[in-house]
Formats: sequence, structure tokens, C-alpha cells
Amino acid sequence: MKKYQLFIDGKFVDSESGECRPVINPATEEPIATVPVAQKGDAKRAIEAARKSFDSRSWSGMDVRERAKILMRVVDKLRSRQEELATIESAESGATIRMTSMMEIPIGIEHFKALVELGERIPAYEPLPWIDMPAVSWNFVNREPIGVCAGIVPWNLPFMIMAWKVAPALIMGNSMVLKPSTDTPLTALELAATAAECGLPPGVLNVVTGSGPVVGEELCANPMVDKIAFTGSTQTGKRVMKLGADTIKKVTLELGGKSPTIICDDADLSIAVDGALFGTFFHAGQFCESGTRCFVPASIYDTFMAQLAERVGHIKLGDTADYETTMGPVVSKAQLARVLGYIETGRKEGARLVCGGGRPPELSKGWFVQPTVFEEVPNSATIAREEIFGPVLTVIRYKNVDDAIAMANDSVYGLGGAVFSRDVPKAITIAKRIRTGTVWVNDFHLVNALAPFGGYKQSGVGRELGPHGLLEYTQVKHIHVDLGLQRSQKFWYDYIFND
Ligand code: NAD
Repeated sequence: MKKYQLFIDGKFVDSESGECRPVINPATEEPIATVPVAQKGDAKRAIEAARKSFDSRSWSGMDVRERAKILMRVVDKLRSRQEELATIESAESGATIRMTSMMEIPIGIEHFKALVELGERIPAYEPLPWIDMPAVSWNFVNREPIGVCAGIVPWNLPFMIMAWKVAPALIMGNSMVLKPSTDTPLTALELAATAAECGLPPGVLNVVTGSGPVVGEELCANPMVDKIAFTGSTQTGKRVMKLGADTIKKVTLELGGKSPTIICDDADLSIAVDGALFGTFFHAGQFCESGTRCFVPASIYDTFMAQLAERVGHIKLGDTADYETTMGPVVSKAQLARVLGYIETGRKEGARLVCGGGRPPELSKGWFVQPTVFEEVPNSATIAREEIFGPVLTVIRYKNVDDAIAMANDSVYGLGGAVFSRDVPKAITIAKRIRTGTVWVNDFHLVNALAPFGGYKQSGVGRELGPHGLLEYTQVKHIHVDLGLQRSQKFWYDYIFND
């Protein structure tokens, strides 16, 4: 079993305490590796290394084209390791190999590449309009890296979410301390090894494995950290924002969701039924933007539900290392208990169970939950309001589109959503009225590296991906060059002199 170490200042090192913990495969409940349990002192060492590298300008002062060359070497090396990374990611997160090898790792690498290419093209110099009051001056904006960024990552898509933070932070010239989830720390350490091999200067990227309350809180509170890029639950996000407030850090938060899928009465059901199921059950419902509330019009309700119930039966649970398996377990025993608790609440609150509703009896090992569908759920029910983060779909009947939009927006979350209709202009009109950061029309989950991704309301602050996401990793400095070269032209100095 591989024993991993922390990655600090360009070297793999043990934690100060020497304590390690096992990483468990959620599909087999067996340990697959060990990682250090870092303490605050380890986090501080990593922050100091990042600070030193940033202040030395070894990376922040490097021409962006040189930074891009090194990061593109990382991309090439990651591509050559794609299969190996897909195997590690599947084993640590419980995602199927079908998903990690066909989606998460290759697309995560392509997103990394796209963000490096996009960042390279963001101009450091932004001219401002000519100013001649109170005198002629030349003004421009210098776009600069922020400094030391803390990247805090959840367990659901560890490689991809890490790529969304590391690539923009580094191409824009920052140094980073990355804290993966305690459940899924391995691909972050693999990325660090790859980056070091590709010539990334020491201290630019550091990876510290440890708990949120210990390592995460140190990263959020330490005065040497300039920015926090956090992805995780809304509850933890609130804590992170409070911790960052004491030293006025720039904070971007990518948080939870309870995304609506609105099926229109003119939808192509061969797309809409599978689309609604893909929106919920992909990766066992462990996507922040999962479409866990499906709004179906009364006019096609029975037909839609009959097809949906039939198609759920085609989702295959089982060995995550088998390419035929289409749905894996949830990430941990704690998450299993949480999801089963919500299913119980759904039953108690009177929702009608269409299928699923528990652990699959045929699987004796692993934290699996059957794909579960509830119907006749009021939008006020607990399972329609709270993020479950497991394979549970609630179907809600609606009378007219205004009614569907009102219920879709009646949520504290605002991350994603979808509209299914053959009438695309109508679907776009509905999409514009949904108060979320992303809406797919006739699809789900297709996150685009060139488009902003993030939440309205309690789903987050700021954006990841695209130019909007890259700019979150920069500071803007206004430089004013006064062109009045004679003392007599600077009449405003006379506000303090009278001679
Ligand atoms: P979580 O909030 O429990 O943990 C996320 C990360 O924060 C982990 O690395 C954890 O160790 C760390 N953390 C925990 N407590 C902390 C603290 N007090 N201070 C600092 N860091 C702390 O989330 P999770 O259970 O790992 O992930 C699932 C959640 O993430 C879901 O709510 C999901 O919607 C959300 N998510 C959001 C997005 C998005 O882009 N909006 C993407 C993926 C997941």
C-alpha cells in the first residue's frame, strides 16, 4: 500500500506529528493508501513556502509565456498519466472507472489546458481613457497576481475541481497551498509530483492533507494568505468567509445546490427523461449542480413518470473498476448515513417512493445507495429544500410554466438548472428567469472551461472558469502617470501651500 507524504516547498515530507490515516475505497471499504494527518504547523510551513516563492518573484515575476510553457509540460505529463490517474481517482472517490476515465480525468486535464491558454492571453496592461482633468495624465491598469492562494477542495470531483483552482491561480502568477478533502487526497499529491517533475519552482504549489477544522482553518485565517478559493458545502463556506474576514481576504466560494430541471410539455421525452436522470444520478448524485428537483407538467406527468421509472432500471450499480458499471457508491459511511436519513425523512413527510429507497441488497460491500425517486413531493418538503448529495430525485408536478419557475426559484440555492423543450427560444426565456449561475437547455452537467461557473444566493460568491474565473486570481492596480512636468502646472499642490 502506497504511503503518501505532504508536498511542501518542492519536496515530499512527512507531517510534524508523523501521524497517517488510511484512504478508503468507498466501493470495497478497503484501504488503498495512507496520507499524513497534517497539523497547523504543517499548514504554516506550506504557507510560508508559498509566501517565500511569491515574494521571491521566481514565479510571479516570470513572463506569463514562460509560466505557460511549464504548465503545458504539466498538461502533457498528466495526459500521459491519464489512465493511472483515472484508476486512483476511481478508487479514492468511489466514482466509476467509466466516469473517471471517460470524463473526469481527460476533461479535467483539458480544462487545465484551456485555463492556462486563456490566462496567457489576459493582458497585464489595460489602457484607460485619456484624462485631462485636473491636468493631462496617462492612466492604465496593471493586472497582477494576488499572492498566496489557499485552494480548498471537496471530495466529489477532486481532480477536476483542483484543476479549476490550480491552473488559473498559477498561470496568473500566484503561489498556492492546496488542501484536498480528507476522503480524497491522492490525485492532488499526484498532481504535485507531476508539477515538480515539470520544473515548477519550489513553493509555488504545496499540498497539505489534513482536516478542515485544523488545516483548512489555518489556511483561512493565516495573515500570509491573500485569497481563499473554496469549494464545498454552504455550511462550511459560511465559516470560511467568517475566518477570512479578520484579515480581509478575497474569498471565492463554490457551494451547494438544489438545482431545478423544468420539463416543458413539448419536450422530446427521449432526451428529457434520460437528461433528468443524468442530471441527478451521474456520479451517484454527488455533483453540486445536480438537478435534484424535477418539475413536470400535469399534462404529460403520467407518461413522463412511466418512462422515467423504466429508465432508472437501466442504471447499473456494482464494481466501480468494471467499465460496465454506471453508478458507484457515495463517498463515505457518514455520507451514506446522511443520504439514508434523507430518504427516511422523505418517506415520513409523505412523498411517494417510485423506486429505490435504500442500499442495494445484492451488494454486500460498499457505501452504495439505490437510485431513488420520490414523486408527489411539495416544493416545501425537506427533500426538496435541502441538498442531499446522493442519488435521490424529487419529482414535483406543476400547473403552468410560471408556477414551475416560481417553485424553481423558491430555494436558498442558485447553482444550476435545466430546461427541456423542443422550442429553444421559449426554453431560453425560461432559462433567463431561473435565478442560478448556469442553466442548460436540453442537457445537464456540461461545464465549459471557457464559461463562468458559480452560484447565485447561498450557492456561492464569485466564479470559476472562463475569463471571469481567471480574473478572480488577480489584483488590479491603477497606475497614474502625471504628464505635467512643470511645478507651475501642479496647481493642486497649492491646496497645502500659500507662498
Ligand atoms: P465540506 O464543506 O465538508 O468540505 C469541503 C472542504 O472544506 C474539504 O476539503 C474540507 O476538509 C474543508 N473544510 C471542512 N471544514 C472546514 C473549515 N472549518 N475550514 C476550512 N475548511 C474546511 O464539503 P464536502 O462534503 O467535501 O463536499 C460536498 C459539498 O461541496 C456539497 O455541498 C457540494 O454541493 C459542494 N460542491 C460545490 C461545488 C461548486 O462548484 N459549487 C462543486 C463541488 C462540490
